[in-house]
Amino acid sequence: FRLSRRPDIGDQIDVSFEFFPPKSDAMEARLWETTERLQPLSPSFVSVTYGAGGSTRERTARTVERIIRETALTPAAHLTCVDATREDADQVIRQFLDIGVSRFVALRGDPADGVGTRYAPHPGGYANAAELVEALARHGAKDISVAAYPEKHPESPDFATDIDMLKRKVDNGAKRAITQFFFDNDLYERYVERARRAGIYVPIVPGILPVHNFGQVANFAGRCGAHVPAWLAERFEGLENDPQTHALVAAAVAAEQVLDLVERGVSDFHFYTMNRADLAFAICHMIGIRANGAREDAKPAAA
Ligand code: FAD
Repeated sequence: FRLSRRPDIGDQIDVSFEFFPPKSDAMEARLWETTERLQPLSPSFVSVTYGAGGSTRERTARTVERIIRETALTPAAHLTCVDATREDADQVIRQFLDIGVSRFVALRGDPADGVGTRYAPHPGGYANAAELVEALARHGAKDISVAAYPEKHPESPDFATDIDMLKRKVDNGAKRAITQFFFDNDLYERYVERARRAGIYVPIVPGILPVHNFGQVANFAGRCGAHVPAWLAERFEGLENDPQTHALVAAAVAAEQVLDLVERGVSDFHFYTMNRADLAFAICHMIGIRANGAREDAKPAAA
């Protein structure tokens, strides 16, 4: 892949960015710096994650509301159905619609008491993301994304069950799937092939996680069933106390992954930004995306 041979590639690529709602004033300031830096890249949307529990929910709503009020970005609200009655979930959907949100990422969520606890649907709630998608569509949501797992969801006994769940979500109205992060592009490609064979034709957008902190990523990957290849661990080996080199290696690793996916024909990317702009911005730059949609090969205006 040679960017110099594909000067207009940035034009054909759509990106979206994921944020989490900030918990403190300092984190809030960082998020707004991040949105300011990323906005000129004209993402198709930016999404804000959602956690169970009242205060987390409120933070998601506040963050989305501020994006609408103070930026030109199109927000998508994540929403989960874990631990919520149908009435609760419907009320949150209406709240989001009332503040002007029409895009959603519909998720099941995980039990609040964490790892090892088996998920059980709330007796009066939506049982899974497929049912939540159906509820969102019924309420008039315009654009619904759902999650997909190139290495299958840890609770799925096999790929057939996993793909079947994805198909139910799409059949109920999801327009795209966004994947869990992964580091092996072959796994993603095989998953997309499986989905297409099962009659799922919506975009399956790779979720790219720039590795801001390898230790944390390895830990998190273990919990969500994402495989960390040995070669990746080797690249970050010994960089625990060298943030500058760590950041350079992280940019190189993510750029390599994204450029390889572009070569395989992928044109949409979702970045798990961790509320930081630097790596996501650098990677977008490398795939030819320029501020305000300017093309990489655009000539400066004549003097
Ligand atoms: P579903 O698609 O409903 O189900 C996933 C798997 O669970 C299925 O494949 C199946 O194996 C099993 N399952 C579910 N229901 C049944 C059933 N009735 N019978 C049999 N098996 C069943 N979490 C948050 O809390 N907040 C967020 O904002 C958030 N954002 C995310 C964004 C993305 C892009 C991704 C990939 C994940 C996100 N998550 C978030 C994590 C997500 O909530 C978890 O991965 C959760 O465990 C599964 O959610 P889901 O929507 O994929 O579930």
